[in-house]
Amino acid sequence: MRLVRVVLATHIRRHFDYLLPEQMPTPAIGARVRVVFGKRNMTAIVVELPHETTIAIEKLRPIEAILDEQPLLNEQLHRLLCWAAGYYHYNLGDIYLQALPKLLRQGALAEHPKCKAWQLTDAGKSYYQQIKNTTKAPRQNQALALLIEHEQILAHETFLKAGISQTILSTLANNHYVQQTELDTQQTRYQRLEELSEQPPKLNRQQAVAVAAINSKAGQFAPFLLDGITGSGKTEVYLQILEPILKAGQQALILVPEIGLTAQTIARFEKRFNLPMAILHSGLNDKERCVAWLQAKDANAAIIIGTRSALFTPMLRPGIIIIDEEHDSSFKQQDTFRYHARDVALMRAKLEQLPIVMGSATPALETLNNALIGRYQHLELTERAGRASVASYELVDIRSQPLRAGLSPQVLKAMQETLRQGQQVMLFLNRRGYAPALLCHECGQVVECERCERPYTLHNHPPHLECHHCGSQRAIPKQCQHCGSTHLVTTGIGTEQLESELAHLFPDYSIARIDRDSTRRKGALDQVLDEITQNQHQILIGTQMLAKGHHFPSVTMVAILDIDHALFSSDFRASERLAQLFIQVSGRAGRSGMAGKVYLQTHHPEHELLQDLINNGYGHFARFALAERKLTDLPPFSYQALLRFEATSVHNLGALGQKLEHFAKQQMHTGCWIFPINEAPVPKRAGKFRQQQLIQAKDRKNLHQLISALINYLEPLPEAKRVRWSIDIDPIDMM
Ligand code: ADP
Ligand code: ZN
Ligand code: ZN
Repeated sequence: MRLVRVVLATHIRRHFDYLLPEQMPTPAIGARVRVVFGKRNMTAIVVELPHETTIAIEKLRPIEAILDEQPLLNEQLHRLLCWAAGYYHYNLGDIYLQALPKLLRQGALAEHPKCKAWQLTDAGKSYYQQIKNTTKAPRQNQALALLIEHEQILAHETFLKAGISQTILSTLANNHYVQQTELDTQQTRYQRLEELSEQPPKLNRQQAVAVAAINSKAGQFAPFLLDGITGSGKTEVYLQILEPILKAGQQALILVPEIGLTAQTIARFEKRFNLPMAILHSGLNDKERCVAWLQAKDANAAIIIGTRSALFTPMLRPGIIIIDEEHDSSFKQQDTFRYHARDVALMRAKLEQLPIVMGSATPALETLNNALIGRYQHLELTERAGRASVASYELVDIRSQPLRAGLSPQVLKAMQETLRQGQQVMLFLNRRGYAPALLCHECGQVVECERCERPYTLHNHPPHLECHHCGSQRAIPKQCQHCGSTHLVTTGIGTEQLESELAHLFPDYSIARIDRDSTRRKGALDQVLDEITQNQHQILIGTQMLAKGHHFPSVTMVAILDIDHALFSSDFRASERLAQLFIQVSGRAGRSGMAGKVYLQTHHPEHELLQDLINNGYGHFARFALAERKLTDLPPFSYQALLRFEATSVHNLGALGQKLEHFAKQQMHTGCWIFPINEAPVPKRAGKFRQQQLIQAKDRKNLHQLISALINYLEPLPEAKRVRWSIDIDPIDMM
């Protein structure tokens, strides 16, 4: 009797044993197999070939089929996923299957797609002998000659490129000179880089130091923080460190926060190297995603670029991992498997013995701390590269100022001047929609989403109310539900309102709005970015999407309208996030020669954080913030886990809460600090009540031991079955 131990995507934190039927070969560890689980056919991953099992033999079911001869993920990636399952306390089966493209998860064979092709027949060969030296049927002649040249089989595409039409091929086929067939598109590995397709710029001294430092660590685990101000030439550093890697025929994995805003960067890689790239973005359909993934796996692609989940893409010949804008919170998955792509990438680099470069103008405090204590090599770029100069700042005190469309007279005047000089203005307002609330002018009642007990946001394109917490939508009411008054008014300003008011104030200029609503349609983001580059718009309005690394050459003025609320947040990470946003948004100004100017409107111009950022820069702020965190024992000087609870009844939450209090009392000796259970900052969402509990420890091991004990305690508990609970290790967003 042979046994196979598998994991499945079941949300159950355990593995399952199956029998291996006589006639089947032994599957490899990490191979996919098909099994029946309950009544369903499921894809499972082999994790072990045990000699014994605790399950009664007669209860064991057989494996239905083995799907892979070779495992899809190599041994290092297999170990990476096992590590992640342990670290994030999440089910290995779910992690494993999330790491695969959907088609492979569903059990499709891991084959490169086939393409239409034509094959020469014996009749075709003799016909060619007859006509080859004649002027007869020149197109057919050419087609047959091509086939002879290429071992008698050639892709349909290649004929078309050579100017041979479908009609010619059909004629040949009708005469049985050729027959239609299929060709494997799996080429061998990409051809390693011979020479660059463009002359790279000469690096400045700091860039050269960074490139040399990184290149000297080829083939070994070596983490780097590339800490360079916006526009300092970080991307140029990435390009130059890739050169020797690609010349050696190795691959690079590049993680970015958002593909839509990375098009310029991708184009730079294409232009410099002209090598096949696999771009993993959300616009791919399942088949395209699977193809891109396989191209990375088999080294058909030289450069792999993708967002968070691309981290798990296998590479036959890995050479380096780069994480651009490493501070970006999109690298942390905020539901189900709550991993941080940067942290998992570091472990991957360690297992695969690769250099890993984390680049940012505003490094996360965790990353900066690791660099300051010498765990990562700290590479700094302190000057803008090329012709660009650093922008200057101005705090605009808006206390008792008359605002128009949320803009102070000073900012409006500066806009006029900038626009008159033919330059672009960027306005940053992190609130999409028309207005953040609709209320009754007579009784003050706010129109709320009942399921979240939060105000609806009013949208005008098309007119509707939308809850930004649960996404639910409804028609705009004509009357107050409370008093029946028809006098409903909005409060606050969103990007849609800013856009329409500016259209009145600046009728001679074109406005582009960039937020999640305006870019929802496929291709819309690319289009508007193009239009901006071609100067078709002069005023750009955007949410934090605009903060992400994009290069707008003609923007010389940036105004940040309203970020005061973040100055007084209770979240200890709020100041870090505000500082990052501020610096990143500011970094869009003056990137190509013309001096940039950044205006920040605030009611608190004397605020320490703002003063520090403006006068001393992010690096100074960050070191000060780290010192503060150290004094208060906050991450990265301690480790946290957040337990989240959701239930439709408060009573069920209370019942579980009592049990957890009891559990906490037994854990006094563990060196962990278990905070009381609290309402979540958004206490109700989509009809569910939400609570959370923070656990913190000075020692990571203690924290993980406690979490394991907690899971063992919770899993069999009846009270826990009536509540949806989850664990967030290293939480960064407490919402
Ligand atoms: P970052 O990624 O840090 O924002 P980039 O690499 O995009 O910076 O560089 C900003 C601009 O400066 C780009 O237009 C780039 O082509 C240019 N640049 C970068 N390095 C150099 C250099 N060594 N010499 C000349 N121009 C450079
Ligand atoms: Zn009312
Ligand atoms: Zn809601």
